[in-house]
Amino acid sequence: MSDFEYAPALESKAIANISKDYGLFINGKFIASHNKKRFETINPANEEVLAKISLADEVDIDKAVKAARAAYVKVWSKMSGKERAKYLFRIARLLQERSREFAVVESLDNGKPIRETRDIDIPLSAAHFFYHAGWADKLEFAGFGDKPKAHGVVAQIIPWNFPLLMLAWKIAPALATGNTVVLKPAETTPLTALLFAEVCQQADLPPGVVNIITGDGSTGAALTKHPDIDKVAFTGSTEVGKLIARSLAVSNTPVTLELGGKGANIVFEDAPLDQAVEGIINGIFFNQGHVCCAGSRLLLQENIHDEFLSKLQKRMSKIRLGDPLDKNTDIGAINSAAQLAKIHELSSSGQAEGADIWSAPCQIPNKGFWFAPTIFTGVTQAHRIAREEIFGPVLSVLTFRTPQEAIEKANNTPFGLSAGVWSDKGSRILWAGNHLKAGVIWANTFNKFDPASPFGGYKESGWGREGGRHGLGAYIKGAK
Ligand code: NAP
Ligand code: MG
Repeated sequence: MSDFEYAPALESKAIANISKDYGLFINGKFIASHNKKRFETINPANEEVLAKISLADEVDIDKAVKAARAAYVKVWSKMSGKERAKYLFRIARLLQERSREFAVVESLDNGKPIRETRDIDIPLSAAHFFYHAGWADKLEFAGFGDKPKAHGVVAQIIPWNFPLLMLAWKIAPALATGNTVVLKPAETTPLTALLFAEVCQQADLPPGVVNIITGDGSTGAALTKHPDIDKVAFTGSTEVGKLIARSLAVSNTPVTLELGGKGANIVFEDAPLDQAVEGIINGIFFNQGHVCCAGSRLLLQENIHDEFLSKLQKRMSKIRLGDPLDKNTDIGAINSAAQLAKIHELSSSGQAEGADIWSAPCQIPNKGFWFAPTIFTGVTQAHRIAREEIFGPVLSVLTFRTPQEAIEKANNTPFGLSAGVWSDKGSRILWAGNHLKAGVIWANTFNKFDPASPFGGYKESGWGREGGRHGLGAYIKGAK
């Protein structure tokens, strides 16, 4: 039978009300930035400019921190948990009501498929606000003492791979525990954070409780260095995480860091292979592989290597790459030209170091930033593609003979964020779970998220946890 053709099923852009120009959201209002500097955010699927965004400098940051401080002292720290919860519930409901609009804007600004923004990013963001709304009036029963106290003003910096979801991971627990916030979204994906600012207005959130300042890396650096910040929460690269840790060591400001990863997905010979293929595909190609906990190293038991690879390549050949707003699309655009260059560079190093490359036969659009789903076989542990985070749709395949060897290879990384185990045997899964050094371990599935479940890593994957009761602790003074 010839290939099945899908008719396009485009989501309409009409619902997305993107302004031409955005100010900074400080003290409950959108205001012009001090230096009037602007940068553009584009749609990475076609390189069209979506909006002009303000670049905040130190004067703006100071204004935002002062607004957050005043809101903390005068309003938010005096409000009962029960009252704070009402605002979180309201925000959660508004995110649900406006979910289609948020999904379209996120897909336009980030390049990720509408299927994912619609079914994962936006519903999970709302779920984080619902979950934390439930905690706000029960903090004294959470195991952090009788009178858990907020830090005060929190600086939060997030990356571009899950813009609204990372915002929800940061803002929901901060507000639930009584902190006020200054948040900086990533330079390439500020739009859903600015839309969220509108939601804060709609929810009548007291001015200054949430402030959103846009900018680039220098804005982020200046925010973390502001002297009136009580806590910093950062998600991003290990490189920037280290810079932040170093600069905060002087003031001893509490900090949580959610950084990079190089997750191993281990398939044992007794695994249900067809299900495992689906899990491996989801593990590395979900969100174009722009996922910190991606299963970017596939560890195959040697005797199933050939059979598994042929199943994997067959399945990869069916992946649909293209317009992120098409509901049939599996893989959207790479988020930026810079990220695409990084993927190309690491991928070339894989070839230069002797690994074999295979890419799915996708048609790459003429405009925008794209990379076909790719696997490398014959990868050794010394190869850069086995050690460094690629943060793209590229899978490195290694083999092992014994379960011990699988664990040793999986743990042989400076990171420790996620791992996956595929086996029919419960005892083997539990044994592997006990020996893997990773913050999250999935068994016979991958990339499953829930607000009640703590998330975070070992070693260079970061400090602290987000989500669940553990994540709350990061926003409470002195909590262990
Ligand atoms: P990034 O370059 O570290 O940027 C992250 C954020 O920090 C952005 O808002 C960025 O601003 C800002 N920033 C840049 N330089 C800064 C500085 N010197 N001081 C303070 N802030 C600064 O990371 P990315 O490339 O956007 O994101 C990808 C990385 O995030 C990957 O390594 C991935 O593994 C990690 N990640 C981790 C998790 C987790 O939970 N562990 C989740 C998602 C992503 P600009 O965008 O304006 O440059
Ligand atoms: Mg963009």
